[in-house]
Amino acid sequence: MSSLNGRRTPKSRVTGTVRAGLGADSPHRSVMPPIHLSSNYFFDAPGEQHGKYDYTRTANPTRDLVADAIAELEGGCGAAVTSSGMSAIAVLTRFLSAGDLLMAPRDCYGGSHRLFSAEAERGSYDVRFFKPWEERSFDLARALRPRMIWLETPSNPILRITDIAAWARLARDIGAICVVDNTFLSPVNQRPLELGADLVVHSTTKFLNGHSDVVGGAVIAADEGLLEDVAWWTNAMGVSGAPFDAYLTLRGMRTLHARSRVHEENALRVVDALVGSGAVAKVNHPSLAGHPGHEIAARQQSGWGSLISFELRGGRPAVDAFVDGIRHFALAESLGGVESLVSHPWTMTHASMDAPARVAAGIGEGLLRFSVGIEAAEDLVADVERALERAHGACPRTAIEVA
Ligand SMILES: *Cc1c(COP(=O)(O)O)cnc(C)c1O
Repeated sequence: MSSLNGRRTPKSRVTGTVRAGLGADSPHRSVMPPIHLSSNYFFDAPGEQHGKYDYTRTANPTRDLVADAIAELEGGCGAAVTSSGMSAIAVLTRFLSAGDLLMAPRDCYGGSHRLFSAEAERGSYDVRFFKPWEERSFDLARALRPRMIWLETPSNPILRITDIAAWARLARDIGAICVVDNTFLSPVNQRPLELGADLVVHSTTKFLNGHSDVVGGAVIAADEGLLEDVAWWTNAMGVSGAPFDAYLTLRGMRTLHARSRVHEENALRVVDALVGSGAVAKVNHPSLAGHPGHEIAARQQSGWGSLISFELRGGRPAVDAFVDGIRHFALAESLGGVESLVSHPWTMTHASMDAPARVAAGIGEGLLRFSVGIEAAEDLVADVERALERAHGACPRTAIEVA
């Protein structure tokens, strides 16, 4: 494993996130900011708004605190906080009109894939799913002249790495908007705006909130013009996030940096355990020198991330034995919470793709994905080793002999 580029989060941003909104707006001098649930605000006179706020769909003080904290972490000029990651993504598609082309990764988030495909089918815009990790895709983009280039790195669940700076440069050359879904790494581990992207989108459901108890999203803009459009559509479509969700998300974000350190330490220990096992055919994690995106990840990320996928040699029987034997990883979708999770993409997150499409995307029946949490590393490693032994026992003999 080579070292990362030293592109660490500026210390002031760590401090800013921990202390976001402290002492704000309280006649009682509360240290932590209050939660503003009110849907509406007094006017001073007809047509005379008292201050910044009139109606919570448009703007809300609690939601604004989260938006400012996320924008600061990503290094953007501002953010819109939405009701889910998918509604944030839907807002971004408002930048596309009929006839415009959206280029999106073939293995983008399943919900994004579904939305883009359905909108293209009804003629809202055109979509071309492509492989941003392949060199020849740059020529394809130059030829197709998309209005928007969508990136997601690392990808789900294979963890392919895309060179954000290279794509942002190309997008600028051809006048396209470059969007990065940064959900998998969070701004602690990757800041696409610093690499030239125009817009960043998050499912705050994942690392930013980090406690698996809120569904939410955010769009962060590089400049005022984009931010204005994003805020306008968020209000017009009515997809802004609820104040209570905003409050919880801000609470979660205060520990993002501390959590991220433990997530990563644990993930690296789990990667070691997987790599050393005879039951495992392949481990996907950008920290591994053999990972095809390792060099790019080392350059553009400031942490390796805590998502891991791996293929068990024994296929489905091994998967069943493994999942049955594991105790500290909950069998569930989603990621980025304090609790460790295991998912089986074939039957869970990617079940809606037909079998050939899954196979083409590199998703086999023996593939599992971990979201490594912040439990004690020793417990997680012991748990994984025990489950791997069970998986090994369930391997058909032929699979083991080939190994
Ligand atoms: C979860 C997720 C989304 C969708 O977010 P929701 O909050 O579930 O609507 C989008 N992109 C990625 C990469 C995700 O993991």
